[in-house]
Amino acid sequence: MSFSSLVQDLSFRDNPNDRRQMARGTSSASTVDDRRSHVSRAMSYASTTATSVSISGDISSQLHGGYSHPLARSWQAERQLTKSMLIYPLFISDEDDEEILIPSLPDQYRRGINKIVPFLEPLVRKGLRSVILFGVPMKSGVKDALGTAADDPKGPVIATIRLLRQRFPQLFIIADVCLCEYTSHGHCGILRDDGGLNNQLSVDRVSDVAIAYAQAGAHCVAPSDMNDGRIRAIKLKLIEEGIADRVVLMSYAAKFSGCLYGPFRDAAGSVPSFGDRKCYQLPPGGRGLARRAIERDIGEGADIIMVKPANQYLDIISDAKDIGKNMPIAAYQVSGEFAMLHAGAKAGVFDLKAIAFESTEGILRAGATIVVSYFTPQFLDWLES
Ligand SMILES: [Zn+2]
Repeated sequence: MSFSSLVQDLSFRDNPNDRRQMARGTSSASTVDDRRSHVSRAMSYASTTATSVSISGDISSQLHGGYSHPLARSWQAERQLTKSMLIYPLFISDEDDEEILIPSLPDQYRRGINKIVPFLEPLVRKGLRSVILFGVPMKSGVKDALGTAADDPKGPVIATIRLLRQRFPQLFIIADVCLCEYTSHGHCGILRDDGGLNNQLSVDRVSDVAIAYAQAGAHCVAPSDMNDGRIRAIKLKLIEEGIADRVVLMSYAAKFSGCLYGPFRDAAGSVPSFGDRKCYQLPPGGRGLARRAIERDIGEGADIIMVKPANQYLDIISDAKDIGKNMPIAAYQVSGEFAMLHAGAKAGVFDLKAIAFESTEGILRAGATIVVSYFTPQFLDWLES
């Protein structure tokens, strides 16, 4: 007997109305309601019967039950977003009382040192664990060819590191290390006469800046300059200084060039005055090159590998997790990604909170356990509810 005729037969036998109608010889056409109930009973019976029949077949087709409850759905993720995974970027101006909205970076401000503590106090109370500092010299005459202001002891980054260590002892302070905010030409190192990067001089300078931030009290230094060999140089200098045992070295190992940094450059005033950064940042298609850069930086002593941008480079995050199996992987959801998600939400394409979670969960799924995110203040609220 076929399965469908089995179902028909069982439902027919099970319906007392039909039995009565058969006995009276009445037409089923006169009992439309009865027929409806007959069909629905048959369907419900069919579903029960089908289950018992199909158990001998392919049981692996049944997935829905495993994620029917919201908690069971959350268990499907290897990593759950928590507050301690989040790093919040801060733009620190050398104008001490400045607090200016960055037009291209929604809800994000550039602040002077006098505005930082009042801004952070409520966030720390809500569970903010970590910030990354970007210095932004706004005063005229500060920038030069060597980026001298980068490690000025009175400059915005070193002063802010000291202040935050004192005011928020539990807050983990990361200092981004680069020269582009401080150089007159806007590039991430020291240039040769022909305009190209002098790698050796750049590495010497960048590693000195990193040590200055570490000496000031940064828990972590994060070189984003992409000069060859800077991780090794920084690690060696940390060892020489006797502080290698208490400073995390986070490498922007896989930092891709592209069009997603526009709002950041508005915020940090770091647009190159000529040329671009394609000779030191990675080309968007360069997956193999990124793997080599990650392998190199691990070999040179990086404690954390970062991938940047994040959502357009999920395969690279996955590669970083594969190569750096035994270390934390960070991803930076950059300014252009953040601005794009805001623009989409504003245009009614999606809900901002929903896309913030979906995009960040994608980054975690790819393999990151640390996310640098402009959504951090909102996540501190969202993760509460
Ligand atoms: Zn730079």
